[in-house]
Amino acid sequence: FLAGRCALVTGSTSGIGLAIARSLGAAGARVAVNGLGTPEQIAAALESVRQAGAPEVRHFGADLSDAAAIEAMMADLAAWAPVDVLVNCAGVQHTAPIAEMPAATWEKLIAINLSAAFHTMRLALPGMAAQGYGRVVNIASVHGLVASVNKSPYVASKFGLIGLSKVAALEYAAAGSRASGGVTVNCVCPGWVETPLIEPQIAARASAVHGDREAGVRELLREKQPSGRMSLPEEIADLVVWLCRREAHNLSGAALPVDGGWTAQ
Ligand code: NAD
Repeated sequence: FLAGRCALVTGSTSGIGLAIARSLGAAGARVAVNGLGTPEQIAAALESVRQAGAPEVRHFGADLSDAAAIEAMMADLAAWAPVDVLVNCAGVQHTAPIAEMPAATWEKLIAINLSAAFHTMRLALPGMAAQGYGRVVNIASVHGLVASVNKSPYVASKFGLIGLSKVAALEYAAAGSRASGGVTVNCVCPGWVETPLIEPQIAARASAVHGDREAGVRELLREKQPSGRMSLPEEIADLVVWLCRREAHNLSGAALPVDGGWTAQ
């Protein structure tokens, strides 16, 4: 159902973003892949999105901590195809108590996890409104809804991303129609998802209990995620694809938890 559409997925060289790029490609979209990595990792990511069924795939290598680089990427992208679907998934994590959080780390996390989404959205939303269809899906986190210790810039960035998304949802609420699909802006808020991002946290838990990786995973889940199961990136991707459907025209401004009951507590 996304044939003829173009999707930009930031942070799609790895983890959840890569799974989303694959699923949007499988639904027929041309996919603009963005993210860092070695040339081999990037080539493998593009091949994997192509294999999933995307009719066209291209890498846009902008470093999202740099606003000028984002502007240049959006201009290149506009010359390739209008953006119908924008998924802001790039994100980084750093854990330390507030008093020990380096100021430069704060700036970097806010830039990548929050400001980058502001820039891609401000540049993509007017085009979406003009064509009467557009989808912005921001990958926030359960940490956009509740806090945990040692994650000050991460939690601040994700709360900010949810607020930003609600503002955009309101500003574009009346764009388009049921027939065209409208313009919606939502956040998906995962709990623990099995990706490279959380490996350092698994390792820290494992060493705290003198156990192996599996023991580390068990510890992480036991603390806050009642299902006791991690999500797989593909499961998050399925929800993103569903949000892109025309029938989802009235689901906007939401922050949807996929957290095994974490925020129900
Ligand atoms: P990941 O580390 O596997 O992927 C992160 C992606 O962001 C990579 O493609 C990386 O290249 C890209 N990236 C990082 N810095 C960048 C920069 N400066 N410029 C461009 N791209 C950059 O992580 P993931 O777990 O797939 O995380 C994806 C998103 O999901 C993040 O926003 C994260 O906060 C969120 N999230 C993850 C979990 C989880 O448990 N894994 C839970 C909730 C939310």
